Amino acid sequence: MNLLCPTRLDPEDEIFRPRLHAALVESLYKQSWFALSGLSIVLVLLWIITREAIARSPMLGWFFVLLGCVVAFRIVWLIVLSLSPARFPSVAARHLCFLAGSTLTSACFVALNILALPLLAPIQLALFCICVAGIGTSGVATMSASPLAFGLYMPPMVISLVAMGVFHPLPVLPGVFVLLLLSYIFTQESVNLVLHRTLCENVLMHLKQEEMARRDALTGLRNRRYLQEFMEEEISRVLRAWHPENASGGLTGRSLALMMLDLDHFKAVNDTHGHAAGDAILQQVASLLKETLRKPDLVVRWGGEEFVILMLDVARTMPMLAAERIREAVEGHTFRLPSGELLKQTCSIGYAQYPFLPGQPEALDWEQVLTLADGGLYQAKHSGRNRAVGVTAGQAPGAQIEASLQDVKDSFKDKVAADILRLV
Ligand code: GH3
Ligand code: MG
Ligand code: MG
Repeated sequence: MNLLCPTRLDPEDEIFRPRLHAALVESLYKQSWFALSGLSIVLVLLWIITREAIARSPMLGWFFVLLGCVVAFRIVWLIVLSLSPARFPSVAARHLCFLAGSTLTSACFVALNILALPLLAPIQLALFCICVAGIGTSGVATMSASPLAFGLYMPPMVISLVAMGVFHPLPVLPGVFVLLLLSYIFTQESVNLVLHRTLCENVLMHLKQEEMARRDALTGLRNRRYLQEFMEEEISRVLRAWHPENASGGLTGRSLALMMLDLDHFKAVNDTHGHAAGDAILQQVASLLKETLRKPDLVVRWGGEEFVILMLDVARTMPMLAAERIREAVEGHTFRLPSGELLKQTCSIGYAQYPFLPGQPEALDWEQVLTLADGGLYQAKHSGRNRAVGVTAGQAPGAQIEASLQDVKDSFKDKVAADILRLV
């Protein structure tokens, strides 16, 4: 069991655990903003009590000063950690910092209970218990994201109160006092767990909705929206690697291969065998593509019977072989229709690489490169289908290529004729 995120999940939801944990820790810090006002009031009260305590017992007075320092430190600690998550990129480290802060505060209150309770008059003791109950109750609301934080924070405070109640004669029956406080712990812990479960369910539902919005319902593949978001990060990584100052940059750098795959004569499959048969083929193509590609590569259902394949870290000579391997895999596969009938299916592929111009990595963005890959697909369809056509830069001077490629959709044929683009 993961101690920092002990929530029980259905096995199929386990993939969400790291994101759930991250969301819970974020929520823990957000909720703690509401504890700051309470902690600030505690600080003011401590300031008032400290002067009184020093008059009665200097040792107790200094203890109150120490407690004030811990509460002040915790306030600063929470503000710093809430405002600059980048200081703690690891979610577990952020959670542990929170646990350390709340446990330290709780430990100080335990010590306070042990030192101060014997000095209090019954009415003061009653007020003190109400104070601790108030602190515990606000903890329920502000620590529902982490039962562990709450468990380390509140029970030690109340248990130390109970212990003092047992060891020092009280105006009420000790048994009743103990029972009251124990039932208080039980209620607070139960409320915390219920709140935690509700929070987890809400976060999980949100994560699942986010996941569904980035997947294609029929094939389970990633969709356009996911690709768009993925590329925002991936492109900056590639461009960093291609930066001239980077040792691995320049012409030896590894690229992204963007492929556009379209099933051949797919309309005929639907017309002949029905839409359900078409759907079954699309699902089997999706599985086949995933099996054929390496783990980090990405298959996206672009729409209809078109798929975009993104291969990461490809040597610049590799995409031709990879595209051919994929085309052969589809051609060689036997598809099974829901009726049990077996069917062969081919596909056409167009591909291009990002960066398109190694000398000017930022000349074309990835969407323009994908449009060029689509141009390659168009050529593959026109030259008979069931083939892969790559698009690379021609021999024309780099500046001319860059200028003329700014409108990648226009006159693909003219660009090939002028050796601005080459088909491979
Ligand atoms: P080409 O070789 O030129 O690509 O011919 P094609 O028939 O594959 O191309 P066209 O664009 O004319 O037809 C695509 C067909 O894909 C049309 C539609 O019936 C089918 N299609 C698109 N999405 C789905 C889907 O989700 N399920 C099924 N069963 N069919 C789909
Ligand atoms: Mg097609
Ligand atoms: Mg199509």
